[in-house]
Amino acid sequence: MPEKVLKSTCSYCGVGCGLLITKDAKNRIQVDGDPDHPVNRGMLCSKGRNLHYVVNDTSDRLLYPQMRWSRSHPLERVDWDTALDRAAQVFKSIIEKHGPDSVGFYVSGQCLTEEYYIANKLVKGFLGTNNIDTNSRLCMSSAVVGYKKTFGEDSVPISYADIELADCFLITGANPAYCHPILYRRLEQHKEKNPDVRVIAVDPRLTDTAAAADLHLQLIPGTDIILYNAIGRRLLQLGLIDKDFINNHTEGFNQYKEQVNKLSLREASKLCGVPMADIKKAADWIGISKGFISMWAMGLNQSVVGTNKNFALLNLSLITGQVGKPGCGPFSLTGQPNAMGGREVGGMANLLAVHKDLTNPEHRSEVAQFWGVESISPKPGYTATQMFEELETGKLKAIWIICTNPAVSLPDVNRVEKALKNARFVVVQDISNRSDTLAYADLVLPAAGWLEKEGTMTNSERRITYLPKAVNAPGEARPDVEIICDFAQKMGFRGFNFYNTEEIYQEYCTMTRGTSIDISYLNYDRLKTEGSFQWPVNEYRHPGTPRLFEDRKFYTPSQKAVFNIPATVTNRSIKPSAAFPFILTTGRVRDQWHTMTKTGKVSRLRTHYPKPVLEIHPADAFALNIREGNLCEVSSENGNVRVTARLTDSIRKGVVFLPMHWGKKLNSSLNRTNNLTQNMVDPQSKEPDFKFTAVKVARY
Ligand code: SF4
Repeated sequence: MPEKVLKSTCSYCGVGCGLLITKDAKNRIQVDGDPDHPVNRGMLCSKGRNLHYVVNDTSDRLLYPQMRWSRSHPLERVDWDTALDRAAQVFKSIIEKHGPDSVGFYVSGQCLTEEYYIANKLVKGFLGTNNIDTNSRLCMSSAVVGYKKTFGEDSVPISYADIELADCFLITGANPAYCHPILYRRLEQHKEKNPDVRVIAVDPRLTDTAAAADLHLQLIPGTDIILYNAIGRRLLQLGLIDKDFINNHTEGFNQYKEQVNKLSLREASKLCGVPMADIKKAADWIGISKGFISMWAMGLNQSVVGTNKNFALLNLSLITGQVGKPGCGPFSLTGQPNAMGGREVGGMANLLAVHKDLTNPEHRSEVAQFWGVESISPKPGYTATQMFEELETGKLKAIWIICTNPAVSLPDVNRVEKALKNARFVVVQDISNRSDTLAYADLVLPAAGWLEKEGTMTNSERRITYLPKAVNAPGEARPDVEIICDFAQKMGFRGFNFYNTEEIYQEYCTMTRGTSIDISYLNYDRLKTEGSFQWPVNEYRHPGTPRLFEDRKFYTPSQKAVFNIPATVTNRSIKPSAAFPFILTTGRVRDQWHTMTKTGKVSRLRTHYPKPVLEIHPADAFALNIREGNLCEVSSENGNVRVTARLTDSIRKGVVFLPMHWGKKLNSSLNRTNNLTQNMVDPQSKEPDFKFTAVKVARY
């Protein structure tokens, strides 16, 4: 008989589906979709449905701290005191000798909000550096800049409930049928009930999302800005714009008009490789819709012009006045379960908690005062890719990596490995022995995983959920907050003597008071008894806020939304050449998650896409004498990958696709996709360019 039913949230994607957790007499858990949860209404995708395997199978878990005295020594089991004393002694000595900017923390969008908050407090408030960044830098940072510059703050304006009120969707640079399946299922159900709803998909690949769309704009990679501007131009030409909204609630419209009128539709069509009639059709559908929602993910964000792509897309919502009303708005689809929570507590090298600005001296002083420290450094910290560049140069000497696997997930991973080898001290705090990054660790700290600790997360629609502890962590694994607080105390810092996780949450809630993300009236009791809430929750018994900007007042100084003009309409990635004639784009497959340290151990999740394959157009394959299943070598300026070919006309000619999940540990003979990608980033968001690498392909 099951003991007791607990409510929790899926630990994979940013959709944030609600779960019911039951335990049997042997402490084995069972996972079901929560029929009362407002996000998924009982539905779960393949990853969520198989979460219990991940928790019940502890065979791959890190069970006790391990340490080595030098790189020539093997890792040895030690107790927690020895491990954290050593960490504190090494960090103190490096900081004394080289200053606080010689150490850094690289964390994850899978950390709970309390973990993110306390790690930020430690690094920015007490270690005296802003060198803390997150793997969310790899997914969402271009969208963060887009929202901040358009609306004044990093604020997703809408809710999933708006999907059922909209009649036109532009899904671009995203394949929610694979990567946000339950959100996509809601859209499908809405369309089944309302056949007039139009879905436009923009993607160089005919993904499942694009195949089911009413219109697929199969653009040439990197031409997104030209396409969105062409749609904007057509809307202007037809007068399908909201003049009242533009005049009263926005700034910068004239410059926008000037930019979109520079290229004719014919020119844009040629540059994007999209028929002019399809661009017109997309614009017409958007222009006449009563509720227009744009949805996007990594296809836009992971680019050297990622912020410009975001600006061009957001501008379509502004000219049509489709913000702050039911059933409309721009909706960035968060990849990780708590990327949003991380942004709220300032979990990036250029942010401060509660949406305060690191470059603003008043904001720095407010945060410093709250934490009881003298000051916060004004210098932005190293971002994700910069940390590894500076490990390579030797400016960064020690790195503490929590819940992420950069030896597989960062671009140009051969360089990342060199950087990790060059580091003086590498701490890896994780749950699984499947992480490739462990090979470079001087200190391994076993962490408690999902359901083994309590805390909160915020999903893509600003919804905060409490996640309870249901089972004990195996071996000596401990919750991340305990590990970080113990380390902080060993460093001699005040302000980390918390009785439990709830006290950390309460401290953060107090900090939000009076801000636009105020949750000072949302405590653990309400979350446990009343369920999840969308921020802000800023009054006693406040029910949460499903939609922002209903008063058409934005968070900018003028309270107007801003048309940001893309600094370039063309892509700035390294172009294909005679030596590297193909464009490689990378992405996810349906049943795998990140570097497969969790989903990779569930056999039924391996059946859909059992091994990495190179998707290539049959005409390109024919020219290279490559047949289905042949082993190919894909090479870029950075490295190569050997992988079998899958011939498919679902991809544009001249473009090839590889999945991003597999690392050395899982598939040593085939290597990793990120051997090939470039260490190039968007200059504003510092997000890497995973979607456009010039490569060559040959039969091996
Ligand atoms: Fe989990 Fe995302 Fe699937 Fe929902 S859609 S069950 S949150 S992986």
